[in-house]
Amino acid sequence: MRKKNKFALLCSSIVLTAGLAAPVYADSHGTNPGTPENQEYSIGGFISHAELSNKLAQIEKSSQGTVDVEVAGYSNQGREIYTATVGTGDKVLLLQSEIHGNEKTGTAALLNLLQSFGSNNSPEIKNILQEVTIVAMPMINPDATELNRRGNDMTWEEVVEDFPQLEGAEPSWNYYTYTNQYWDYASQPGFDVNRDFNPDLDYQPQPEDFPANSSQPGWYITPEAQTVRDVYKGLMEEYGKVDVFVDLHHQGEYYVEGSDEKVTLSISGDFIPHPESVEGEKYSEYADTYDFDFSKKLNVAAYDALQERGNSPFDNITLYPQNLDLPGTALGSFALNGSGAVLFEVTGQTQSYGQKKLGQLVKAVELGVYGIIDQVASGDVYEIDADRYYDIPLTDRDQDYGF
Ligand SMILES: [Zn+2]
Repeated sequence: MRKKNKFALLCSSIVLTAGLAAPVYADSHGTNPGTPENQEYSIGGFISHAELSNKLAQIEKSSQGTVDVEVAGYSNQGREIYTATVGTGDKVLLLQSEIHGNEKTGTAALLNLLQSFGSNNSPEIKNILQEVTIVAMPMINPDATELNRRGNDMTWEEVVEDFPQLEGAEPSWNYYTYTNQYWDYASQPGFDVNRDFNPDLDYQPQPEDFPANSSQPGWYITPEAQTVRDVYKGLMEEYGKVDVFVDLHHQGEYYVEGSDEKVTLSISGDFIPHPESVEGEKYSEYADTYDFDFSKKLNVAAYDALQERGNSPFDNITLYPQNLDLPGTALGSFALNGSGAVLFEVTGQTQSYGQKKLGQLVKAVELGVYGIIDQVASGDVYEIDADRYYDIPLTDRDQDYGF
């Protein structure tokens, strides 16, 4: 018997209206708050911001200079947002986690990778670190992490304080003020930071660009998105481009299309219509920098690395829904600026999965990201047939509202 998630459709239709009204469950990202399968799970096994700070300091110290940890900026509530840099090569990979604070495995995976790159002296690792510079940004939305929720912790009034030209403008469509059984955005409002990016990295907020919607760019009104943008721009200035951008997320529970296997991880390189297509004409100024083929190759590199492990669950890798138009996501904006881009969507958010299968999910992310790093370092990724991307199985889900 096929166990399809009957709440998925309902959830997606609610989400699709997120730009029009303030729905009870807003963009709940594939979780189904309020349904019987959801419970309040402990998140004690996940990493808090204080633990992240300690762990990064420890990794930096034990690496004896190989890993360089810096504070890149601060969240709206004043928590540190870090970069951890390792490697001396001229190919640059920016790896980000936990832009949604209830999507936590990416942070653990990045710390494991930093630990390995910082303290493993094998020839394999040494070779990689000569070819690439890895900039990891674990937990870029720490206020959301502490609240175990998607949105950051910021009011529209604070945005107007920072950008007085927005006085009188309608709050952006991704501003949450609702309350449900898990989250009280009414008393602590916040923004979906992953809709606050803009492919114009120098964009300044203008009142006429609000409230906008999901197929329009964001504004860099949140300090979290500003921090990531500033790191990205800094790397562009230093290295000419950011070759690879990887963003680590979670999704609801789905099945591999045509099977009864549950998805472990979905990946994607497709976040906006191609600038050379009719639908993508609005992005035509980025036609020369956008490199969808390279994104596809990077996805295949991740997929191959996981397939090499053989057997379930690392076999159950699928493509995330394609043909999206989400220029306000970090992936959409940075892909237009020329980065090969990869989305990771591990199954199960903290409200639906708790810590179930935590070790396995972290390992899947680690293996996939390592596969990308390894193939970029060796140069093998450039030889991959980009069309193999379409051999990756699809996900059995009928919504494609985005991540
Ligand atoms: Zn997410």
